[in-house]
Amino acid sequence: MAMIDRLARIAAHDAHTAGLKPVQWEALRFLARANRFSRTPGALTAYLGATKGTVSQTLIALERAGYIDKSTDTADRRTVRLALTAAGRERLTRDGTEPMERALGSLNEADRRALTNGAAALLRARIAIDGGRPFGICRDCRHFAHDAGGLGQHFCRLLKVPLAEADTGKICIEQEAA
Ligand code: SF4
Repeated sequence: MAMIDRLARIAAHDAHTAGLKPVQWEALRFLARANRFSRTPGALTAYLGATKGTVSQTLIALERAGYIDKSTDTADRRTVRLALTAAGRERLTRDGTEPMERALGSLNEADRRALTNGAAALLRARIAIDGGRPFGICRDCRHFAHDAGGLGQHFCRLLKVPLAEADTGKICIEQEAA
């Protein structure tokens, strides 16, 4: 536990050094990885496990900096959609995780794989304690119908929408492991 605390502190320090708060980096990374059904303030709140107030302040700061856009859903006027701007995508190329990624890259293959698998299992277990959502990727979801409409034309049986190949590696608030 002490090692996890220490790693978390170093990661938070790296994030501040790279010019944004850790939660702001996490929000930008989420928007880069989430599918179109999940790029909303509510999904971001569930993903971060943060309060609505924290997420609201985070989105205000990121919008002011020009890193995200907010728009109203054309089909449901009550839903706010979030999107990274070109500046937001560019900011992510100077991500605060770079030193940690470099450290991870310095490990041998076996240690890196063991750490990745162990961290993923720990994260799943911790999220489960709070009854949170896993936010897994689309192609690992039980609702994912591979090539349902032909080669590369997939389908979501839950949301009843077609899915493109590019959707399959995105994370989703509705994902349930197959
Ligand atoms: S198949 Fe699962 S992960 Fe993909 S869009 Fe549907 S609910 Fe989300």
